[in-house]
Amino acid sequence: MDIQKDRVVSIDYMLKDDQGQMIDRSEGDPLVYLHGNDNIIPGLEKQLAGKKAGDKVACVIAPADAYGEHDEEMVFTVSKKDFAEPEKIEVGMQFQAQEEGGMRVVTIVGVAGDEVKIDANHPLAGKTLHFDVTVKDVREASPEELEHGHVHGDDDDGCGCGCGDGGCGDGECDDEGGCGCGGCH
Ligand code: ZN
Repeated sequence: MDIQKDRVVSIDYMLKDDQGQMIDRSEGDPLVYLHGNDNIIPGLEKQLAGKKAGDKVACVIAPADAYGEHDEEMVFTVSKKDFAEPEKIEVGMQFQAQEEGGMRVVTIVGVAGDEVKIDANHPLAGKTLHFDVTVKDVREASPEELEHGHVHGDDDDGCGCGCGDGGCGDGECDDEGGCGCGGCH
């Protein structure tokens, strides 16, 4: 079975930056996603389309097809008082901020007196991504997965969003934005 829209795909991957530094890897716990539903970056979907279990893909993906260019407008200054624990703020810290459509990772890039400079770009914005991918499995999606636009794991690695048994009932799984659980995509 080849990879195409609305099929569930399992991949092992290694992700490196331009300098060859490891950014992320699946480490024997494959990433499972629903192809063609914006679960993963568009550049990688393009590379994987038509591949089958056992195929290997090595590719380089430009920022525009990954997490976008780094946007200076997304870097701004806030007051230290806005943080719950201002005494602990330091450069490099990352935290999650709620926004429309899900969670966003925000990075602290500067601290000067009472001012804190934060960068709300995706941590991988502006980076060219080097992927080494092995396709592990391709299967048809269940009707429920298609309806939600994301994969429902088995009990061992369910996404914890409450979508598993009898629907999620929390009203967050019914749009293209996914369930917002942050744990399964
Ligand atoms: Zn769901």
